[in-house]
Amino acid sequence: MTRIVNFSAGPAALPEEVLARAGDEMLDWHGSGMCVMEMSHRGKEFIAIAAEAERDLRELLAIPANYKVLFLQGGATLQFAQVPMNLLAGRGKADYVLTGEWSKKAAKEAAAFCDVGTAATSEDRKFCCAPAQGEWRVRGDAAYVHYCSNETIGGVEFHWVPETGTVPLVADASSHMLSRPVEVSRFGLIYAGAQKNLGPAGLTIVIVREDLIGKAAKGTPTVMDYKLQSDADSMLNTPPTYSIYVAGLVFKWLKGIGGLAEMERRNAAKAKLLYDCLDASAFYANPVEKRDRSRMNVPFTLADAKLDDPFLKGAAERGMVQLKGHRSVGGMRASIYNAMPLEGVQRLVDYLKEFEKRHG
Ligand SMILES: *Cc1c(COP(=O)(O)O)cnc(C)c1O
Repeated sequence: MTRIVNFSAGPAALPEEVLARAGDEMLDWHGSGMCVMEMSHRGKEFIAIAAEAERDLRELLAIPANYKVLFLQGGATLQFAQVPMNLLAGRGKADYVLTGEWSKKAAKEAAAFCDVGTAATSEDRKFCCAPAQGEWRVRGDAAYVHYCSNETIGGVEFHWVPETGTVPLVADASSHMLSRPVEVSRFGLIYAGAQKNLGPAGLTIVIVREDLIGKAAKGTPTVMDYKLQSDADSMLNTPPTYSIYVAGLVFKWLKGIGGLAEMERRNAAKAKLLYDCLDASAFYANPVEKRDRSRMNVPFTLADAKLDDPFLKGAAERGMVQLKGHRSVGGMRASIYNAMPLEGVQRLVDYLKEFEKRHG
């Protein structure tokens, strides 16, 4: 068996140990005689699996007791609508920080529900940075302020948590959740689609402060009401059972390697290896301000776009795939989430040097 080095932005690589364990447990989970996919979500086996996943996630992120953890569906994209439906609480306005494609999409979706203000934007700088705290203008009567804490396409990451006073802070953390420790109490709500850094597609995790829920807009579908989902332990209807199980295995894997502090150390080392290589060369370029560069998603361009296809072909020949940049920006993008080992990044760096020598 040969596993390729997968730089996909999502669905993305999963830790090999997690996949192997899921394989071992495929036909018979813990003597139950069933695959997890075949279990009733109301049965004691699956209820135990879901409860343990939540416990481990709470432990990893040290989630305070006054926060609810929800296992939902619909991806981060559904949260673009679900957040305003639940958090506006009759207040008619919310502020958004624009730092790239995903935060723009979130703001656009919210505009169907309320008056959307721009608290800060880096659009005038081609989304190459995270607007500094001093640039943020949050309306005091906004129901919440939303930002994307890691822009997956542009490769811009907030390495700090914004201060928004009494206005709850909402983060789309889809592409860097669990890549580092985070102080949950600074947020009103954090959400993430699982398929980047947490597990398989089909699961969306929402962490929300309990006083913010229970005020959903009239007409909100029951499965989209955070309070109703919370009261039902995210099992108002059939949850994405297998995705929850695999995410639970990922949480165990993270605990096993030493938790999020160790994960952050590894992610920082991988990112440094790759950015140092790009910066040492005039052949490759990354457009993001150094201090705001993402540790997870590293977009870069070659000196001549005509070399893109030969670059990708050579990478594939060396067992490295999914390096093509997002269709909206072109160039290359290496996504180096938690499951990407240092050796994978080293292989890319070796190839970057080799390719430059031949074509630079
Ligand atoms: C991938 C992604 C999304 C969209 O996720 P879906 O699960 O496809 O809806 C939203 N925000 C960010 C930051 C993402 O990386």
